[in-house]
Amino acid sequence: MDRCENWIMSKIRDLTGQKFTRLTAIKLHSIQHRQTKWLCRCDCGTIKVVRQVHLVAGKTQSCGCLISEIVSSRNRASATHRAGKTPEYRAWSNMKDRCYREAHPQFNYYGKAGIKVCDRWMHSFETFYADMGKRPSSKHSIDRWPDPYGNYEPQKCRWATWKEQRANRRTWCQQQIDGRVG
Ligand SMILES: [Zn+2]
Repeated sequence: MDRCENWIMSKIRDLTGQKFTRLTAIKLHSIQHRQTKWLCRCDCGTIKVVRQVHLVAGKTQSCGCLISEIVSSRNRASATHRAGKTPEYRAWSNMKDRCYREAHPQFNYYGKAGIKVCDRWMHSFETFYADMGKRPSSKHSIDRWPDPYGNYEPQKCRWATWKEQRANRRTWCQQQIDGRVG
């Protein structure tokens, strides 16, 4: 480092090695027109010159990859859901069809039998997914539980296999019979 550089470094805030979100300041790039600029390396490997004020204020947090990554992952997730490609989305959509679309082959056992989908789930796949979580396997479907004849709503539904659902119905019905007798 020559004398001039030393003098400059004593006048500015030395950010060398400091990290600002994804950007790490490598070295001073320039001071021009009262603007201090730093040569930065982004976590993704891109080198970018960033103004010190933007770096310190958090206005610039990456080479540009951060915003685009967030946006694209968000779009990917909702596009997949919209396209109905996830098993959870298909389960949600089928559940509504069984209860509200008369043309559904099982409508008689659901919609016509008075089975409803709660408002929380009716209008939002996101909340359904937040409540139910990921389907554990392809053998699992929505089980109304413990009441196998109840409505579709949180706390009264779970993912279960056919075997578990049959066992649940048996237990529930047996309890109802016992209750009536006792
Ligand atoms: Zn980057």
